[in-house]
Amino acid sequence: ATGLMSGKRGLIMGVANDKSIAWGIAKACHDAGAELGFTYQGDALGKRVQPLAASVNSDIVIPCDVSDEASMDATFATVAERWGKLDFLVHAIGFSDKNELRGSYTDMTTAANFQQTMLISVYSFTAAAQRAAKLMPEGGSLLTLTYYGAEKVMPHYNVMGVAKAALEASVKYMAMDLGPRGIRVNSLSAGPIKTLAASGIGDFRYIMKWNELNSPLRRNVTQADVGKSALYLLSDLSSGVTGETHHVDAGYHVVGMKAEDAPDI
Ligand code: NAD
Repeated sequence: ATGLMSGKRGLIMGVANDKSIAWGIAKACHDAGAELGFTYQGDALGKRVQPLAASVNSDIVIPCDVSDEASMDATFATVAERWGKLDFLVHAIGFSDKNELRGSYTDMTTAANFQQTMLISVYSFTAAAQRAAKLMPEGGSLLTLTYYGAEKVMPHYNVMGVAKAALEASVKYMAMDLGPRGIRVNSLSAGPIKTLAASGIGDFRYIMKWNELNSPLRRNVTQADVGKSALYLLSDLSSGVTGETHHVDAGYHVVGMKAEDAPDI
């Protein structure tokens, strides 16, 4: 333990299992001395999250459906009751109907799933920020997870790419609003990692292989890579950084000419 996060309390939203990006971030924060609370979606995931939380000495494990305002209110009421204040928040939540994460964005996207995707993957971070900021009288750090599909067209990412673009824009607006109160708002743009959510994206294995062959570091990033960079954004090490989209993608986003084909996959 470096003690970098000693005395800091953070709410981690979005652990589904031990492969979740949120879990990689939680471990990095715990190792640096942070005290953690967790939210989970639904009883089935709760059974997985409880033991993970216990393994990092957390007994704050709260059910939260981010698309439900009452559930959000109850979550932050619990945090207020247990801790009184909050130093950081991690939002690692996204959802879209997987039937619309393949093929043509133009042809596949329905109004109902567009709204649902935007509500869960974009607005929920704003809704969390509204409530978290009230618990941060001395400032804090808010972090969400995004993907390169916000900036450039990635196969099959479709409505999720449109949502991530909106999420990145919302990070900038919230950075401006909350900056005077010492609250920083950033996003971490992770390269592809095999998780539950990622398994819903068409041809995900191919996308991972392509990233490995074409990124400057010639590999995919890990949960631990993301955890370490998140630690920077959540801690005082990034005290001068807000409104940023920080890429943790083995450098993939800087490459203009992708050279290799991905054979045999
Ligand atoms: P994951 O499946 O482990 O996590 C997604 C989480 O979203 C789950 O915990 C799920 O319960 C939660 N969620 C969905 N709808 C919810 C709702 N209504 N209420 C509460 N929670 C809800 O997958 P992950 O890959 O760790 O995803 C975390 C974040 O990282 C997402 O925003 C995702 O878009 C982003 N991301 C993932 C990758 C990748 O390749 N895996 C790359 C870049 C960004």
